[in-house]
Amino acid sequence: MEAVHSTSIKGTGVVAGIAYAPAVWARPRPELPTPADEVPEEQRSGEYERFVAASDTVAERLLKRSSHLEGSAAEVLKATAGMVTDRGWRKTAQKFINKGQPAENATAAATDKFVTMFEAAGGLMAERTTDLKDIRDRVLAELRGEPEPGLPEIEGEGVLFADDLSPADTATLNTENIVALVTELGGPTSHTAIIARQLSLPCIVAVGSSISSVEQDEMVLIDGAMGTITLNADPVLSQEKVRESRETAALVAQWRGPAKTKDEYRVQLLANVADGSAARLAAEGQAEGIGLYRTELSFLSASEEPSVDEQAKIYRKVFEAFPASKVVIRTLDAGSDKPIAYANMIAEENPALGVRGLRIANNNEPLLTRQLDAIAQAAEGRGDEAPTWVMAPMVATAREAKWFAGLCRERGLVAGAMIEVPAAALMADKLMPYLDFVSIGTNDLTQYTMAADRLSPQLAYLTDPWQPAVLRLIRHTCIVGNDTQTPVGVCGEAAADPMLACVLTGLGVNSLSAASTALPGVGAQLAKVDLETCKKAADLALESVGAAAAREAVRELLLG
Ligand code: PEP
Ligand code: MG
Repeated sequence: MEAVHSTSIKGTGVVAGIAYAPAVWARPRPELPTPADEVPEEQRSGEYERFVAASDTVAERLLKRSSHLEGSAAEVLKATAGMVTDRGWRKTAQKFINKGQPAENATAAATDKFVTMFEAAGGLMAERTTDLKDIRDRVLAELRGEPEPGLPEIEGEGVLFADDLSPADTATLNTENIVALVTELGGPTSHTAIIARQLSLPCIVAVGSSISSVEQDEMVLIDGAMGTITLNADPVLSQEKVRESRETAALVAQWRGPAKTKDEYRVQLLANVADGSAARLAAEGQAEGIGLYRTELSFLSASEEPSVDEQAKIYRKVFEAFPASKVVIRTLDAGSDKPIAYANMIAEENPALGVRGLRIANNNEPLLTRQLDAIAQAAEGRGDEAPTWVMAPMVATAREAKWFAGLCRERGLVAGAMIEVPAAALMADKLMPYLDFVSIGTNDLTQYTMAADRLSPQLAYLTDPWQPAVLRLIRHTCIVGNDTQTPVGVCGEAAADPMLACVLTGLGVNSLSAASTALPGVGAQLAKVDLETCKKAADLALESVGAAAAREAVRELLLG
C-alpha cells in the first residue's frame, strides 16, 4: 500500500477536541470597489436611495435572523443590524455620494473613516472594526446583487475555514454541520475563540497565511489542543482519534465536582463571571463558587460613577447566586482595553502600560473606597461558609499591596491581589505578608512577561500561557505561597485549558477559575491523573524551550 504523506499547518489551539471533515471556506468577502467615474449630480439622490435600500435590506435580514435566536447570539445580530442603520455612518456615506461617488465606493469610504476612528481609539473600540468591515461587505454584496458573504450552507459535516469570523457569523453558526473552526487571524481572546469555547467546538486561530494552502472540500484533521491542521491524514487513524475525542467529550459532560485528582488531591474549581446572570448560570453548573468577578464589565458604558447603593445592588446579584460559597470580587480593572469614562481621566499613548487597574486609585482613593464600601454593603449578612474575598488588579509593588489590604480590612473584607505584573510575581515574598490570598491573572502576566499585546493576532505565539517563562513566574509565586501559607489561585484563560490545569496543580496552585463552561473539561482531566503526574507535567513544562514544546511534552505524558 502506498504510504500517505501528511503535512501539518500550525496555529494557536484555543478549544481542545479532534475533528475530521472536509474544509469549507466561508463565502469570500466581496472585492472592494476601485476608483470610479464621478456620478452626475442629478443621479446622486438616486444613488443615495440605492445605498439606503441595500443597507435596509441587510439590517432587516439580520433582524429576521435574530428573531429565530436567543440570548447573546440574538443580541450580536441586533447590534450588527443597529450598526447598518447607524445615522453617523449613513450620513458619512451620503457626504461621499454628494461629492459624486457611486454607492459602492461611498459605502467603502464611509466604513474606512469609521475604521480609522475606531483604531485610533484602541482597545475594545478597535476590536469592533471587524463588525464594521462585515457590514460594509454585506452592503456591497447587496448593492451588486451578489450572495451575502459569510457562512455557507452545507450538507453533512465540515470544518469552517475563514480569514476571521465576524460576530454575526459566529452567532449563527450551525453546529449540527460545523464541527470545528479555523481562522487565519484572531487570538486566544478573540470573538471566534470565545464563541467556540461556549459551543465546545474545536478551534484553532492565528494560523497565518499558510491557511490558504487548504482547499475547499479537502479532508482535514483538526487537533484543537495542539493547534494543528493535518492535510492528507490517514482516514482510519483520523476516525479513531475523532472517536476517542468524542468519548472524552462524553466523560466531560458527565463529570460532576468537586474536583480532585485520581489520588483525591482537592483543587477548587471556580467560575469567572461578569454579572449576576453569568453567576446564576455558573451556579447551575459545576463551579464551587466565583473566582473572578470582573466588576468593571458592568460599567463600560456608564458615563458617571454609580452611587454606593447602586453598585451594591449590582454586586449583590452575583453574591445571591452563591449564597453559601466563596466569591472573589475584583475591584475596577479600568483602563487599557477596558476604558471607563468616569475612571480613566487622561488619554494615554500606551494605555496597557498606563494608569489601569489599581493605579487609577493613586490619585483618586475615594473611587476605590466607595467601591469597597459597596462591596461590603452587598456582602452584609453572608455567613462564614460564604467568604467574600476582594482583590486588586495590576498590583506591582508591596507598597500597593499593603495600601489596598489596609483599605479592605478597615471594612472587614478579606484582601488579596492579582499577580499579573511580573514584578509582583518576583517580589511575592514581599507582597504576600500583607495579603490573605493571591490570584494569578495569566492573561496579563503573559502579556507583560512576553512584552506582547494580548490582542495582537500576529503575536499569538508569544501570548501563550504555556510559555515556560510565565510558568516559572507561577512556580515562584506558588513556592512563596506555600512558605507563607497564602492561597494561590489562577483566574486567567490558562485555568480553562485541561492539560495546563494539571501543570498548574503540579506547580502548587490551589484553585482554578475559568468560564463555567470550561470547568467540566478541567475537572474530568484532573480526575484522570494523580498529583505526582501533575508535578512531573509541571517539571516537563518548566524545562521546555518554548510554549509549543511544553504543550507537546505534557500532552505526551498525559495522553500518551
Ligand atoms: C488576567 O489578566 O489573566 C485576568 C484574569 O484579568 P483580565 O483578563 O480581566 O485582564
Ligand atoms: Mg488582567
